[in-house]
Amino acid sequence: MSAALVVLSGGQDSTTCLAWAKKRFAVVDAITFDYGQRHRVELACAVEVARRAGVRQHRTITVDSLKQLGGNTLTGDTGAALGASGAGGLPNTFVPGRNLLFMTLAAAWAWQLGTRDLVTGVCQTDYSGYPDCRADTMVALQQALRLGLEAEVVIHTPLMHLSKADSVRLAQAEGGLELLAWTHTCYAGQVPPCGACPACLLRAKGFAEAGVADPLLVRLAG
Ligand SMILES: [Zn+2]
Repeated sequence: MSAALVVLSGGQDSTTCLAWAKKRFAVVDAITFDYGQRHRVELACAVEVARRAGVRQHRTITVDSLKQLGGNTLTGDTGAALGASGAGGLPNTFVPGRNLLFMTLAAAWAWQLGTRDLVTGVCQTDYSGYPDCRADTMVALQQALRLGLEAEVVIHTPLMHLSKADSVRLAQAEGGLELLAWTHTCYAGQVPPCGACPACLLRAKGFAEAGVADPLLVRLAG
């Protein structure tokens, strides 16, 4: 029986990937990482999305090492506005090593589950310049995991080359719009979303270009 493990943050992209995986694999599990992110609402969204999608197992794993290393706006160690320019010209929302660590931990659980297929919503189009979201990084990491686990690990990245609008269209095609009503994107951590932060603006642009109403806003407008 085909099985996949989806790395689920509770955001739009990983939720779209979950819908994608549900269409392609008989069994889907999901893993979420609690790395001390400032906005705890994301974790609650991941639980809700996983439940609504009917995944077999969903686990939230605590990874407090990134917060211990400090210096990042997403983990609340600096008071800077999320999305502003940070070290090395990268946005200050870049958490060094985050995806490398998460994919490795996901692969470790997948190995125990007997699952070889991992799914992640990383994307190098329309993205903020995170080097650990690039296709090259994921291809190299897949190779490292294959060697290190002696297993035919496959990292699926369905959103890698999609624009935000294409990503919305994909969610629609995969029947995932309902799930997007339960996601969190806002960098300000607000529900309803603030509508003004870089994350809200990018999300709004994607839905507008795709000509689709954001199910989250529709739901909250009740
Ligand atoms: Zn916002």
